Amino acid sequence: MRELGIIEDGALLIENGTVASVGSSRRIENLSEAKRAREVDATGRVVMPGFVDSHTHLVCGPPRLRDYEMRISGASYQEIGEAGGGILHSMRSIRSASSKRLVWEAKRYLHLMGAYGTTTVEAKSGYGLDHASELKILRVLEACALEQPLDVLSTYLGAHVVPPEYQDRPDDYVDWMCRAMLPQVRRRKLATFADVYCERGAFTLEQSRRYLSAARGFGFRLKVHADQFSQSGGTQLGIEMGAVSVDHLEQAGAEEAAALSQSGTIATLLPGSVFHLGLERYPPARLLLDSGCAVALATDFNMGTSPTFSMPMVLSLACARMRMTPAEAISASTINGAHALGMAGRVGSLEFGKQADLLVLEASDYRELPYFFGSNPVAQVIKKGRVIVPRPEK
Ligand SMILES: [Zn+2]
Repeated sequence: MRELGIIEDGALLIENGTVASVGSSRRIENLSEAKRAREVDATGRVVMPGFVDSHTHLVCGPPRLRDYEMRISGASYQEIGEAGGGILHSMRSIRSASSKRLVWEAKRYLHLMGAYGTTTVEAKSGYGLDHASELKILRVLEACALEQPLDVLSTYLGAHVVPPEYQDRPDDYVDWMCRAMLPQVRRRKLATFADVYCERGAFTLEQSRRYLSAARGFGFRLKVHADQFSQSGGTQLGIEMGAVSVDHLEQAGAEEAAALSQSGTIATLLPGSVFHLGLERYPPARLLLDSGCAVALATDFNMGTSPTFSMPMVLSLACARMRMTPAEAISASTINGAHALGMAGRVGSLEFGKQADLLVLEASDYRELPYFFGSNPVAQVIKKGRVIVPRPEK
């Protein structure tokens, strides 16, 4: 992860939205196809792959500004919930919102993510929690995938929290998802992944196992929210079930690191939520990396715990608070993010045959990316060979 394969004075040739050739400027400029190409001059700047944000809750309701103020003043999660905030507040707003409104909002967020250099986004359901609303969110994501330039991969996260209709009957809710929702979502091709929040107050290890087994049976690839606030056993469960990634891992320790290092499962770390909640315990990135685990970084974009569009900010947090090197952070947010989405053959690095998803940074050294925290160094974004940032003139 520390080897970025940097080419000093490099160039690449894009044809039909894919990387046709990459190497030294002299070699690329001498190719006959290059003579006819339109040139984008990036002299003195860094060119790198677009970010792959492999964990977002893109459709998650309006900003939770009152929750934010209450938490700053010391209110507990429970007190915020009792005052009408929290996840259930977002759920009610999603249930009553029109699809049109949700598509408009999600496209706006995707546009902002693109401006910070994200070119591929994973997006979860999980704020509808009933049949109609979960399908509504997944269709919103489907529309987003078609109506704007970023790649959007959908995840069914029905197992986010137990909805009010099933209060005190969580097992019935899990049964219902396994029987009614998972097969339907799969049949309608509305999601590639199924995800579960394996945590105290959400779903137990046993319920998570039941849900993941059913999902795997229907052909979903699996993800798990694991070890965020307590050691839930979710990491080991994810590995056992062959999950493509286990996400969060703030509480993971040596056992989880050892198990992950022997597996093909990616450890996706989400420092934005630790930062926004004002917590001190970041995921143990050094332990995971030094144990030989494959680590990815993502925003965890959502209104409750991580309201950020900015992968550059996530990289700054990973370096300053988790002791990842700038090179490790870049690998984690590009190629490893792509692995966490099963997309590494198409995106995440600038190699022959891959999608031409790339960034031109207003920086002369890649280390400036995490170093100038809170800023946006992205000058240009090219998605499948087309300039999308700055927006082309019509
Ligand atoms: Zn999440």
